[in-house]
Amino acid sequence: MKKFFIAGNWKMNTTPKSAMELCLLLKNSTKELGAELDILVCPPFTNIQAVAMALEGSRIKYGAQNCYFAEKGAFTGEISLEMLKELGCTYVIIGHSERRKIFNEDNELINKKIISSLSAGINQIFCIGETLEERQNGKTVEVLKEQISVGLKGISPEQAKTIVIAYEPVWAIGTGIAASPEQIQDTHIEIKKYISQLFDDEMKNLILYGGSLDPSNAKSILELRGVDGGLIGGASLKADSFLSIIRIASELQK
Ligand code: PEP
Repeated sequence: MKKFFIAGNWKMNTTPKSAMELCLLLKNSTKELGAELDILVCPPFTNIQAVAMALEGSRIKYGAQNCYFAEKGAFTGEISLEMLKELGCTYVIIGHSERRKIFNEDNELINKKIISSLSAGINQIFCIGETLEERQNGKTVEVLKEQISVGLKGISPEQAKTIVIAYEPVWAIGTGIAASPEQIQDTHIEIKKYISQLFDDEMKNLILYGGSLDPSNAKSILELRGVDGGLIGGASLKADSFLSIIRIASELQK
């Protein structure tokens, strides 16, 4: 039986008040679901404390969408892992394609963030994915291998095993066009194979799919072999749609 991981990436949406309201709806509607299902929300930094309060006593975990790798110091505007830890964050998203593209984060910087989050004891959702041009030019696997090999450089197999991977084709994020089940399944298999090869060990990392996952396609995506859950942007911002996806995952676990 699969143990699904359903994570919401709220991006730059919600305020402390609306984040709290959304969390209360999610909290009340997820009480009865099977304990096997992992649910996570990642609000903007400014709303983490409100989310922590709203989710108290709930099964829903919360995390951050980004971090900086240094412990502290002159890094105006950045947030350290220690700060996130003290707020009770158990996960941090690292390497989201919007960070890579808009904020020029490269594989080396992402690697530093992964290493420092491992030492801080915060779990990672490590995002990888190809652009449309890369896919059309047959470069998907090459690009993913580069993101994985540099992103996970210097990490032991034991550490690497704990990292949740999110395969998010850039062209599917926020476009309403999810990758096809074949594309998702084939790519997840390639990712698993490459990580095992890289660490010379059978790696069983959770691999989530992300990119326009919504209630209409959740079943066909989540039931695929090699898909352990989803990283959900737009559809995680409304309680109804996020809960529909959560319920579909819960049904598939039975
Ligand atoms: C994301 O931001 O990680 C994402 C998958 O967004 P969306 O679900 O809106 O495509």
